[in-house]
Amino acid sequence: MTQLTPPYHDVRQHPLTRGKNPMTIKAINTHLLEQPLARPFESSAMRFSVRRHLLVEIECDNGLDGWGECLGNADINAAIVNAMSPHLIGRSALDIEPIWLELYNQFRDQGQRGATVNAISGIDIALWDLCGKYHNAPIYQLMGGAFRDQVPAYATGGFRQVGVDRISSLLQEVQGFLDAGFRAVKIKIGFGIALDIESIAAVRELIGPDIRLMIDANHGYDAVAAAQVIRLAAPFDIDWFEEPVVPEALGSYRRLRDLNSIPIAGGETWHTRWGIAEALQQGAVDILQPDVGGVGGLSEARKLLTLCDIHGVRCVPHIWGTDIALAAGLHFHAIIPPSPPAFEAESAWLEFDQSDNPMRAVLLKHPIEMIDGMVRIPSGPGLGIEVNRDALSPFYRKP
Ligand code: CA
Repeated sequence: MTQLTPPYHDVRQHPLTRGKNPMTIKAINTHLLEQPLARPFESSAMRFSVRRHLLVEIECDNGLDGWGECLGNADINAAIVNAMSPHLIGRSALDIEPIWLELYNQFRDQGQRGATVNAISGIDIALWDLCGKYHNAPIYQLMGGAFRDQVPAYATGGFRQVGVDRISSLLQEVQGFLDAGFRAVKIKIGFGIALDIESIAAVRELIGPDIRLMIDANHGYDAVAAAQVIRLAAPFDIDWFEEPVVPEALGSYRRLRDLNSIPIAGGETWHTRWGIAEALQQGAVDILQPDVGGVGGLSEARKLLTLCDIHGVRCVPHIWGTDIALAAGLHFHAIIPPSPPAFEAESAWLEFDQSDNPMRAVLLKHPIEMIDGMVRIPSGPGLGIEVNRDALSPFYRKP
């Protein structure tokens, strides 16, 4: 057995592939897309007046290309992906784990959490897309097989629209979700306890007892206020309370979870196996919400399933971005084991953002759709999607 010694910048010199040329990376393209919104909207502490996303495209010498997407600030992600590119050129795109480890090793001194890992995530997703295309198989198949071919979707919305009445605009939006066929809805809170409870009560009255309802404070409360929200919101049958407090406050998460009232969810800004392990070891959440585009890509996301299993925590992925991020999230959904491992276990709900995004449903030749509350997992090679290049150009930043 040959002992391999990284790094292998030149795949042609790799002991296992010397002379075989199995799909060498020749270029990494970053596509920074942005579009101002007609009407800004707000979560508890952020205003969205423009949509901005970073797509990562990796081109190989055999003509195949793979696509990924990074969660988080697109400008920062683009800079880091470009800084990482020299480590990818000339390597085999099939060396996904060796590339992950090398990028992390090379850049960990720049940050073991946050933007560095967001950048690796987009690259990792693109490599999995390439791997699937190379083997003519969907990613979930290469990761061990799917537990399901479709997932129930919940509508993410209920942001605060700027300049309009909160309650009436919220109810109008939620009614639209019901009309579209959603059977679960997540609304934003964190705009003051009284208004939040009034919003929750009004939405529950509108949707009736059979539609699921989740609340997301985007860490807009501290532990004292969040505990009060839990006490007042519990009678309205809430599936989970997401990001009640800032993600650093693991002790506060634990205290809220110990109230044993509404299940506590979080994790969209926790990164890698180390960040997630720290949160789970402290008993921070009932429901973990890793984002494939931020937690370290599909390679890292699948490792977290073992951590969730060991700690008795459900995995319900966070998804935010374009249809490329959604496709990556769907492949992750496919491989989440049922919890509990029983016939009657329901699938984790798919986060399907419904807030204003002009890029949604136009970047792919066949957009990802929700039908009767369900979304099918793409079954074509790789991510199973086809990016419509012509649709990208209107969103490139104007000079
Ligand atoms: Ca959230």
